[in-house]
Amino acid sequence: MKNIVVLGSTGSIGTSALEVIKGLSNEYNVLGLSANRNLALILEQIEQFNPKFVSIGSTEDAEKIKKVYPNIEVYYGDEGLKKLGMLDETDILLTAVSGAIGIEATLEAIKREKRIALANKETMVAAGDLINKMLKEYKAEIIPVDSEHSALFQSLHGGKDGEVRKLILTASGGPFRTWDREAIKDVKVEDALKHPNWSMGSKITIDSATLVNKGLEVIEAHQLFGIPYENIEVLVHPQSIIHSMVEFCDNSIIAQLGVPDMKLPIQYAFTYPERVCNYVLEGLDFVKSASTLTFEEVDNEKLKGIKLAIEAGKKGGTMPAVFNAANEVAVELFLKREINFLDIYEVIEKAMEQHIVISGDNLGNIKKADKEARDFAYSYKK
Ligand code: NDP
Ligand code: MG
Repeated sequence: MKNIVVLGSTGSIGTSALEVIKGLSNEYNVLGLSANRNLALILEQIEQFNPKFVSIGSTEDAEKIKKVYPNIEVYYGDEGLKKLGMLDETDILLTAVSGAIGIEATLEAIKREKRIALANKETMVAAGDLINKMLKEYKAEIIPVDSEHSALFQSLHGGKDGEVRKLILTASGGPFRTWDREAIKDVKVEDALKHPNWSMGSKITIDSATLVNKGLEVIEAHQLFGIPYENIEVLVHPQSIIHSMVEFCDNSIIAQLGVPDMKLPIQYAFTYPERVCNYVLEGLDFVKSASTLTFEEVDNEKLKGIKLAIEAGKKGGTMPAVFNAANEVAVELFLKREINFLDIYEVIEKAMEQHIVISGDNLGNIKKADKEARDFAYSYKK
Protein backbone atom coordinates (compact mmCIF):
# COMPACT_ATOMS: atom_id res chain seq x y z
CA MET A 1 0.00 0.00 0.00
CA LYS A 2 1.39 3.41 -1.03
CA ASN A 3 0.22 6.61 0.65
CA ILE A 4 -0.15 9.60 -1.68
CA VAL A 5 -0.55 13.25 -0.69
CA VAL A 6 -1.95 15.50 -3.43
CA LEU A 7 -1.09 19.19 -3.09
CA GLY A 8 -3.47 21.13 -5.31
CA SER A 9 -6.08 18.35 -5.51
CA THR A 10 -8.76 20.75 -6.81
CA GLY A 11 -6.68 21.80 -9.83
CA SER A 12 -6.34 20.35 -13.31
CA ILE A 13 -3.41 18.06 -12.39
CA GLY A 14 -4.88 17.29 -8.97
CA THR A 15 -8.22 16.08 -10.32
CA SER A 16 -6.47 14.00 -13.03
CA ALA A 17 -4.26 12.48 -10.33
CA LEU A 18 -7.29 11.42 -8.31
CA GLU A 19 -8.75 9.74 -11.41
CA VAL A 20 -5.46 7.89 -11.89
CA ILE A 21 -5.51 6.77 -8.25
CA LYS A 22 -9.10 5.53 -8.62
CA GLY A 23 -8.02 3.42 -11.58
CA LEU A 24 -5.02 2.02 -9.69
CA SER A 25 -7.37 0.22 -7.27
CA ASN A 26 -6.51 -0.24 -3.63
CA GLU A 27 -2.71 -0.40 -3.84
CA TYR A 28 -2.64 3.40 -3.64
CA ASN A 29 -4.26 5.30 -0.80
CA VAL A 30 -4.97 9.04 -0.59
CA LEU A 31 -3.39 10.19 2.68
CA GLY A 32 -3.73 13.96 2.20
CA LEU A 33 -5.46 16.53 -0.01
CA SER A 34 -5.04 20.27 -0.36
CA ALA A 35 -7.02 23.10 -1.92
CA ASN A 36 -6.89 26.84 -1.77
CA ARG A 37 -10.38 28.27 -2.42
CA ASN A 38 -12.45 25.44 -3.84
CA LEU A 39 -14.18 24.22 -0.68
CA ALA A 40 -17.06 22.53 -2.53
CA LEU A 41 -14.75 20.33 -4.60
CA ILE A 42 -12.45 19.34 -1.76
CA LEU A 43 -15.50 18.33 0.29
CA GLU A 44 -16.52 15.99 -2.54
CA GLN A 45 -12.97 14.64 -2.74
CA ILE A 46 -12.85 14.06 1.03
CA GLU A 47 -16.10 12.10 0.84
CA GLN A 48 -14.74 9.95 -1.96
CA PHE A 49 -11.12 9.39 -0.87
CA ASN A 50 -11.30 9.59 2.90
CA PRO A 51 -7.93 11.29 3.59
CA LYS A 52 -6.44 11.59 7.10
CA PHE A 53 -5.05 15.08 6.44
CA VAL A 54 -6.44 18.08 4.58
CA SER A 55 -5.23 21.64 4.05
CA ILE A 56 -7.22 24.59 2.68
CA GLY A 57 -6.53 28.28 2.07
CA SER A 58 -8.50 29.94 4.87
CA THR A 59 -9.09 29.23 8.53
CA GLU A 60 -12.88 29.71 7.97
CA ASP A 61 -12.97 26.92 5.41
CA ALA A 62 -10.79 24.74 7.65
CA GLU A 63 -13.41 25.14 10.42
CA LYS A 64 -16.18 24.16 8.02
CA ILE A 65 -14.33 20.97 7.06
CA LYS A 66 -13.65 20.09 10.69
CA LYS A 67 -17.33 20.43 11.51
CA VAL A 68 -18.32 17.85 8.89
CA TYR A 69 -15.29 15.58 9.39
CA PRO A 70 -14.15 15.80 13.02
CA ASN A 71 -11.72 12.89 12.56
CA ILE A 72 -9.66 14.59 9.86
CA GLU A 73 -6.60 16.64 10.76
CA VAL A 74 -7.33 19.96 8.99
CA TYR A 75 -4.70 22.64 8.35
CA TYR A 76 -4.90 25.98 6.53
CA GLY A 77 -2.87 28.59 4.68
CA ASP A 78 0.77 28.44 3.59
CA GLU A 79 1.71 26.73 6.85
CA GLY A 80 -0.95 24.08 6.26
CA LEU A 81 0.42 23.32 2.81
CA LYS A 82 3.90 22.97 4.28
CA LYS A 83 2.60 20.62 6.99
CA LEU A 84 1.30 18.27 4.29
CA GLY A 85 4.89 18.00 3.07
CA MET A 86 5.97 16.89 6.55
CA LEU A 87 3.87 13.77 7.05
CA ASP A 88 5.89 10.69 8.01
CA GLU A 89 3.32 8.26 6.58
CA THR A 90 3.66 9.69 3.05
CA ASP A 91 5.19 7.54 0.31
CA ILE A 92 4.57 9.93 -2.59
CA LEU A 93 3.97 13.67 -2.50
CA LEU A 94 2.40 15.03 -5.69
CA THR A 95 3.19 18.75 -5.81
CA ALA A 96 0.52 20.11 -8.13
CA VAL A 97 -0.19 23.58 -6.77
CA SER A 98 0.36 26.41 -9.19
CA GLY A 99 3.31 28.76 -8.60
CA ALA A 100 6.28 29.05 -6.25
CA ILE A 101 3.95 28.42 -3.29
CA GLY A 102 4.87 24.72 -3.72
CA ILE A 103 8.52 25.17 -2.72
CA GLU A 104 8.41 24.70 1.04
CA ALA A 105 6.22 21.60 1.15
CA THR A 106 8.48 20.03 -1.48
CA LEU A 107 11.60 20.83 0.55
CA GLU A 108 10.02 19.28 3.65
CA ALA A 109 9.30 16.08 1.73
CA ILE A 110 12.89 15.99 0.45
CA LYS A 111 14.15 16.20 4.05
CA ARG A 112 11.98 13.19 4.84
CA GLU A 113 13.40 11.28 1.85
CA LYS A 114 10.07 10.84 0.07
CA ARG A 115 9.27 10.37 -3.59
CA ILE A 116 8.10 13.65 -5.03
CA ALA A 117 6.00 13.52 -8.16
CA LEU A 118 6.69 17.07 -9.34
CA ALA A 119 4.17 18.81 -11.57
CA ASN A 120 4.88 22.22 -10.07
CA LYS A 121 7.65 23.42 -12.41
CA GLU A 122 7.85 26.85 -10.70
CA THR A 123 9.35 25.09 -7.67
CA MET A 124 12.18 23.57 -9.74
CA VAL A 125 12.78 26.88 -11.52
CA ALA A 126 12.90 29.10 -8.43
CA ALA A 127 14.58 26.62 -6.07
CA GLY A 128 16.41 24.22 -8.40
CA ASP A 129 19.89 24.91 -6.99
CA LEU A 130 18.66 24.36 -3.43
CA ILE A 131 16.74 21.21 -4.37
CA ASN A 132 19.77 19.75 -6.14
CA LYS A 133 21.95 20.54 -3.14
CA MET A 134 19.45 18.80 -0.85
CA LEU A 135 19.14 15.77 -3.13
CA LYS A 136 22.86 15.14 -2.55
CA GLU A 137 22.22 15.05 1.19
CA TYR A 138 18.87 13.24 1.36
CA LYS A 139 17.76 10.07 -0.43
CA ALA A 140 14.60 11.65 -1.79
CA GLU A 141 13.64 11.24 -5.45
CA ILE A 142 12.00 13.67 -7.82
CA ILE A 143 10.06 12.10 -10.64
CA PRO A 144 8.88 14.71 -13.14
CA VAL A 145 5.18 14.94 -14.02
CA ASP A 146 5.47 17.73 -16.58
CA SER A 147 4.85 15.80 -19.83
CA GLU A 148 8.09 16.93 -21.55
CA HIS A 149 10.20 16.05 -18.53
CA SER A 150 8.47 12.73 -18.02
CA ALA A 151 9.25 12.02 -21.70
CA LEU A 152 12.89 13.04 -21.22
CA PHE A 153 13.15 11.01 -18.02
CA GLN A 154 11.82 7.95 -19.86
CA SER A 155 13.94 8.52 -22.98
CA LEU A 156 17.12 9.05 -20.95
CA HIS A 157 16.86 5.41 -19.89
CA GLY A 158 17.96 4.63 -23.46
CA GLY A 159 21.60 5.61 -22.78
CA LYS A 160 24.15 6.64 -20.18
CA ASP A 161 24.92 10.16 -18.88
CA GLY A 162 27.99 10.89 -21.04
CA GLU A 163 26.20 9.65 -24.17
CA VAL A 164 23.56 12.41 -24.30
CA ARG A 165 24.11 15.04 -27.00
CA LYS A 166 20.98 17.10 -26.48
CA LEU A 167 17.50 17.23 -25.04
CA ILE A 168 14.79 18.18 -27.51
CA LEU A 169 11.77 19.67 -25.78
CA THR A 170 8.69 19.74 -27.94
CA ALA A 171 6.26 22.67 -27.75
CA SER A 172 2.78 22.96 -29.21
CA GLY A 173 3.53 26.61 -29.97
CA GLY A 174 0.40 27.74 -28.12
CA PRO A 175 -2.62 29.59 -29.54
CA PHE A 176 -0.55 32.33 -31.26
CA ARG A 177 1.77 30.12 -33.29
CA THR A 178 0.14 31.18 -36.54
CA TRP A 179 -0.67 34.80 -35.58
CA ASP A 180 1.50 37.53 -37.06
CA ARG A 181 3.49 39.90 -34.87
CA GLU A 182 1.12 42.85 -35.33
CA ALA A 183 -1.96 40.85 -34.29
CA ILE A 184 -0.27 39.68 -31.06
CA LYS A 185 -0.34 43.26 -29.77
CA ASP A 186 -4.13 43.09 -29.44
CA VAL A 187 -4.43 39.68 -27.84
CA LYS A 188 -7.39 39.37 -25.45
CA VAL A 189 -7.51 37.22 -22.31
CA GLU A 190 -10.06 34.95 -24.04
CA ASP A 191 -7.66 34.37 -27.00
CA ALA A 192 -4.80 33.49 -24.69
CA LEU A 193 -6.92 31.04 -22.70
CA LYS A 194 -7.66 28.92 -25.81
CA HIS A 195 -4.91 26.30 -25.78
CA PRO A 196 -4.99 24.13 -28.90
CA ASN A 197 -4.21 20.74 -27.27
CA TRP A 198 -4.18 20.76 -23.48
CA SER A 199 -6.85 21.63 -20.91
CA MET A 200 -5.02 23.17 -17.94
CA GLY A 201 -5.26 25.76 -15.15
CA SER A 202 -5.41 29.41 -16.27
CA LYS A 203 -1.88 30.39 -15.15
CA ILE A 204 -0.11 27.68 -17.16
CA THR A 205 -2.45 28.30 -20.11
CA ILE A 206 -1.30 31.94 -20.29
CA ASP A 207 2.30 30.75 -19.84
CA SER A 208 1.81 28.49 -22.85
CA ALA A 209 0.59 31.42 -24.92
CA THR A 210 3.63 33.60 -24.03
CA LEU A 211 5.99 30.58 -24.35
CA VAL A 212 7.09 31.39 -20.78
CA ASN A 213 5.85 27.89 -19.99
CA LYS A 214 8.39 26.45 -22.42
CA GLY A 215 11.03 28.77 -20.95
CA LEU A 216 10.26 27.52 -17.45
CA GLU A 217 10.51 24.00 -18.83
CA VAL A 218 13.98 24.64 -20.28
CA ILE A 219 15.19 25.74 -16.83
CA GLU A 220 13.35 22.79 -15.26
CA ALA A 221 15.08 20.37 -17.68
CA HIS A 222 18.47 21.92 -16.96
CA GLN A 223 17.93 21.55 -13.20
CA LEU A 224 16.42 18.05 -13.33
CA PHE A 225 18.88 16.45 -15.74
CA GLY A 226 22.04 18.59 -15.35
CA ILE A 227 22.28 19.31 -19.09
CA PRO A 228 23.80 22.69 -20.12
CA TYR A 229 21.46 25.24 -21.72
CA GLU A 230 23.43 25.00 -24.99
CA ASN A 231 22.36 21.35 -25.26
CA ILE A 232 18.64 21.92 -24.73
CA GLU A 233 16.64 22.65 -27.86
CA VAL A 234 12.99 23.59 -28.25
CA LEU A 235 11.15 22.26 -31.28
CA VAL A 236 7.61 23.29 -32.18
CA HIS A 237 5.44 20.22 -32.71
CA PRO A 238 1.82 21.43 -32.93
CA GLN A 239 0.18 18.01 -32.48
CA SER A 240 1.67 17.36 -28.99
CA ILE A 241 2.04 13.63 -29.65
CA ILE A 242 5.83 13.40 -29.21
CA HIS A 243 6.25 14.71 -25.67
CA SER A 244 10.04 15.23 -25.97
CA MET A 245 13.17 13.43 -27.17
CA VAL A 246 16.79 12.75 -26.33
CA GLU A 247 19.49 12.75 -28.99
CA PHE A 248 22.45 10.53 -28.14
CA CYS A 249 26.04 10.86 -29.39
CA ASP A 250 25.54 8.06 -31.96
CA ASN A 251 22.79 10.20 -33.59
CA SER A 252 20.02 7.95 -32.30
CA ILE A 253 16.99 9.81 -31.02
CA ILE A 254 14.70 8.28 -28.42
CA ALA A 255 11.27 9.82 -27.95
CA GLN A 256 8.20 9.19 -25.81
CA LEU A 257 4.80 9.41 -27.48
CA GLY A 258 1.21 9.31 -26.29
CA VAL A 259 -2.09 11.14 -26.35
CA PRO A 260 -1.89 14.63 -24.82
CA ASP A 261 -3.32 13.63 -21.45
CA MET A 262 -1.52 14.37 -18.17
CA LYS A 263 -2.86 11.18 -16.62
CA LEU A 264 -0.06 9.24 -18.37
CA PRO A 265 2.91 11.11 -16.85
CA ILE A 266 1.12 11.43 -13.49
CA GLN A 267 0.70 7.67 -13.27
CA TYR A 268 4.27 7.00 -14.39
CA ALA A 269 5.58 9.23 -11.59
CA PHE A 270 3.52 7.20 -9.11
CA THR A 271 4.38 3.70 -10.35
CA TYR A 272 7.96 4.14 -11.69
CA PRO A 273 9.93 1.97 -12.25
CA GLU A 274 6.87 -0.19 -12.99
CA ARG A 275 4.40 0.39 -15.83
CA VAL A 276 0.87 -0.43 -14.77
CA CYS A 277 -2.27 -1.01 -16.86
CA ASN A 278 -5.05 1.38 -15.88
CA TYR A 279 -8.42 1.71 -17.62
CA VAL A 280 -8.34 5.53 -17.19
CA LEU A 281 -5.36 5.83 -19.55
CA GLU A 282 -6.19 6.33 -23.21
CA GLY A 283 -4.17 4.76 -26.03
CA LEU A 284 -2.78 6.48 -29.12
CA ASP A 285 -4.32 5.61 -32.49
CA PHE A 286 -1.61 6.56 -35.01
CA VAL A 287 -3.90 6.59 -38.03
CA LYS A 288 -6.69 8.63 -36.43
CA SER A 289 -4.68 11.03 -34.27
CA ALA A 290 -1.08 11.00 -35.37
CA SER A 291 -0.96 10.38 -39.12
CA THR A 292 0.73 13.77 -39.62
CA LEU A 293 3.40 14.86 -37.18
CA THR A 294 4.97 18.20 -38.08
CA PHE A 295 7.85 20.27 -36.73
CA GLU A 296 8.81 23.95 -36.90
CA GLU A 297 11.38 26.32 -35.49
CA VAL A 298 10.35 28.58 -32.62
CA ASP A 299 9.95 32.28 -33.41
CA ASN A 300 11.79 33.69 -30.39
CA GLU A 301 11.29 37.29 -31.52
CA LYS A 302 7.49 37.08 -31.75
CA LEU A 303 7.03 35.35 -28.37
CA LYS A 304 9.98 35.99 -26.08
CA GLY A 305 9.23 33.61 -23.21
CA ILE A 306 11.96 31.08 -23.98
CA LYS A 307 14.63 33.70 -24.70
CA LEU A 308 14.02 35.50 -21.40
CA ALA A 309 14.00 32.24 -19.46
CA ILE A 310 17.32 31.10 -20.89
CA GLU A 311 18.78 34.49 -20.04
CA ALA A 312 17.58 34.07 -16.44
CA GLY A 313 18.76 30.46 -16.32
CA LYS A 314 22.24 31.33 -17.57
CA LYS A 315 22.57 34.19 -15.08
CA GLY A 316 21.68 31.59 -12.45
CA GLY A 317 21.52 32.13 -8.68
CA THR A 318 18.31 33.95 -7.74
CA MET A 319 17.56 35.15 -11.30
CA PRO A 320 15.29 32.22 -12.25
CA ALA A 321 13.27 32.89 -9.05
CA VAL A 322 12.89 36.52 -10.16
CA PHE A 323 11.91 35.48 -13.69
CA ASN A 324 9.29 33.17 -12.23
CA ALA A 325 7.88 35.55 -9.61
CA ALA A 326 7.64 38.49 -12.02
CA ASN A 327 5.86 36.24 -14.49
CA GLU A 328 3.40 34.95 -11.88
CA VAL A 329 2.37 38.52 -11.04
CA ALA A 330 2.30 39.63 -14.68
CA VAL A 331 -0.01 36.73 -15.57
CA GLU A 332 -2.29 37.59 -12.64
CA LEU A 333 -2.44 41.25 -13.81
CA PHE A 334 -3.09 40.18 -17.40
CA LEU A 335 -5.91 37.86 -16.29
CA LYS A 336 -7.42 40.78 -14.35
CA ARG A 337 -7.10 42.85 -17.53
CA GLU A 338 -4.81 45.36 -15.82
CA ILE A 339 -1.96 44.94 -18.32
CA ASN A 340 -1.71 43.90 -21.97
CA PHE A 341 -0.38 40.60 -23.27
CA LEU A 342 2.98 41.98 -24.39
CA ASP A 343 3.41 43.81 -21.06
CA ILE A 344 4.00 40.40 -19.49
CA TYR A 345 7.43 40.32 -21.16
CA GLU A 346 8.15 43.88 -20.11
CA VAL A 347 7.34 43.18 -16.46
CA ILE A 348 9.69 40.18 -16.51
CA GLU A 349 12.46 42.05 -18.33
CA LYS A 350 12.31 45.05 -15.99
CA ALA A 351 12.20 42.88 -12.86
CA MET A 352 15.27 40.99 -14.09
CA GLU A 353 17.09 44.21 -14.99
CA GLN A 354 16.82 45.64 -11.49
CA HIS A 355 17.77 42.42 -9.69
CA ILE A 356 21.25 41.83 -8.30
CA VAL A 357 21.89 38.09 -8.41
CA ILE A 358 22.85 36.24 -5.24
CA SER A 359 23.27 32.53 -4.58
CA GLY A 360 20.09 30.51 -5.16
CA ASP A 361 20.92 27.53 -2.97
CA ASN A 362 19.29 28.72 0.24
CA LEU A 363 15.64 29.39 1.00
CA GLY A 364 16.19 32.83 2.54
CA ASN A 365 17.74 34.19 -0.67
CA ILE A 366 15.08 32.60 -2.86
CA LYS A 367 12.22 34.03 -0.78
CA LYS A 368 13.83 37.48 -0.70
CA ALA A 369 14.35 37.54 -4.48
CA ASP A 370 10.82 36.20 -5.04
CA LYS A 371 9.27 38.87 -2.80
CA GLU A 372 11.28 41.73 -4.34
CA ALA A 373 10.28 40.66 -7.83
CA ARG A 374 6.61 40.37 -6.85
CA ASP A 375 6.61 43.82 -5.21
CA PHE A 376 8.32 45.27 -8.27
CA ALA A 377 5.87 43.61 -10.67
CA TYR A 378 2.79 44.75 -8.73
CA SER A 379 4.03 48.32 -8.88
CA TYR A 380 4.55 48.14 -12.64
CA LYS A 381 2.60 50.80 -14.49
CA LYS A 382 2.16 50.87 -18.22
P1 NDP B 1 -4.70 24.77 -11.50
O1 NDP B 1 -4.79 26.25 -11.48
O2 NDP B 1 -5.72 23.99 -12.24
O3 NDP B 1 -4.70 24.23 -9.98
C1 NDP B 1 -3.89 24.80 -9.00
C2 NDP B 1 -4.11 24.10 -7.67
O4 NDP B 1 -3.32 24.76 -6.68
C3 NDP B 1 -5.55 24.17 -7.17
O5 NDP B 1 -5.81 23.03 -6.39
C4 NDP B 1 -5.54 25.42 -6.29
O6 NDP B 1 -6.54 25.43 -5.29
C5 NDP B 1 -4.16 25.28 -5.67
N1 NDP B 1 -3.59 26.56 -5.25
C6 NDP B 1 -3.48 27.69 -5.97
N2 NDP B 1 -2.93 28.68 -5.25
C7 NDP B 1 -2.69 28.16 -4.03
C8 NDP B 1 -2.18 28.70 -2.82
N3 NDP B 1 -1.78 29.97 -2.71
N4 NDP B 1 -2.08 27.87 -1.74
C9 NDP B 1 -2.47 26.58 -1.83
N5 NDP B 1 -2.98 26.02 -2.93
C10 NDP B 1 -3.09 26.81 -4.02
O7 NDP B 1 -3.23 24.41 -11.99
P2 NDP B 1 -2.74 23.14 -12.84
O8 NDP B 1 -3.26 21.89 -12.23
O9 NDP B 1 -2.97 23.39 -14.26
O10 NDP B 1 -1.16 23.23 -12.61
C11 NDP B 1 -0.56 22.86 -11.37
C12 NDP B 1 0.94 22.81 -11.54
O11 NDP B 1 1.28 21.80 -12.47
C13 NDP B 1 1.54 24.12 -12.11
O12 NDP B 1 2.80 24.33 -11.52
C14 NDP B 1 1.68 23.82 -13.58
O13 NDP B 1 2.73 24.55 -14.18
C15 NDP B 1 2.01 22.34 -13.55
N6 NDP B 1 1.66 21.62 -14.78
C16 NDP B 1 0.34 21.56 -15.17
C17 NDP B 1 -0.02 20.91 -16.33
C18 NDP B 1 -1.45 20.78 -16.73
O14 NDP B 1 -1.73 20.08 -17.70
N7 NDP B 1 -2.38 21.41 -16.07
C19 NDP B 1 1.01 20.30 -17.20
C20 NDP B 1 2.34 20.36 -16.67
C21 NDP B 1 2.65 21.01 -15.51
P3 NDP B 1 -8.08 25.97 -5.54
O15 NDP B 1 -8.44 25.57 -6.93
O16 NDP B 1 -8.84 25.21 -4.49
O17 NDP B 1 -8.10 27.43 -5.32
MG1 MG C 1 4.83 20.71 -20.04
